[in-house]
Amino acid sequence: TEKTASNISEILDRTINLVKYDKRFKNIHLDIEIGDIPRLIVNPDQIQQVFLNLILNALDAMPEGGRLYIKIKKAGNFIELIFHDTGVGIDESVMDKIFDPFFTTKPFGKGTGLGLSICYGIIREHNGTITAKSKKGEGTTFVIKLPI
Ligand code: ADP
Ligand code: MG
Repeated sequence: TEKTASNISEILDRTINLVKYDKRFKNIHLDIEIGDIPRLIVNPDQIQQVFLNLILNALDAMPEGGRLYIKIKKAGNFIELIFHDTGVGIDESVMDKIFDPFFTTKPFGKGTGLGLSICYGIIREHNGTITAKSKKGEGTTFVIKLPI
């Protein structure tokens, strides 16, 4: 895979442009906060795929609308990327399965269960980590850490 010094904020912009006209985005309040961060050596297409999967999952989780908060900041030797939504949340009993390939709670045809497993693989390939925290009925937060 081809990695090159990339502007993460630009990759996020491109991803938002892909989804902003989606019907599901209509009642979503999007809040983006990006600190002063250096370029990262990444595969931009793969990172865009990660952002897209996380954003589409957040939209699926907020059928009645809600808030999507994306924050990118420097944290020591890492860049921390936070995706928080005010959606349906994830049941504690399945929290340890969400990154497994083919795990989905969506109806047949709506989800393949591959999105998060692809994210996991891409982030690991970039020597980073991706973790999730959630509270049923309140929302979900994904945190990605990528080394600078
Ligand atoms: P898919 O979206 O095809 O179901 P994913 O791998 O992207 O597969 O996600 C797996 C499962 O994790 C989803 O079916 C859902 O249950 C849960 N999930 C992922 N992101 C969120 C989120 N932001 N809010 C609530 N549940 C989520
Ligand atoms: Mg998905």
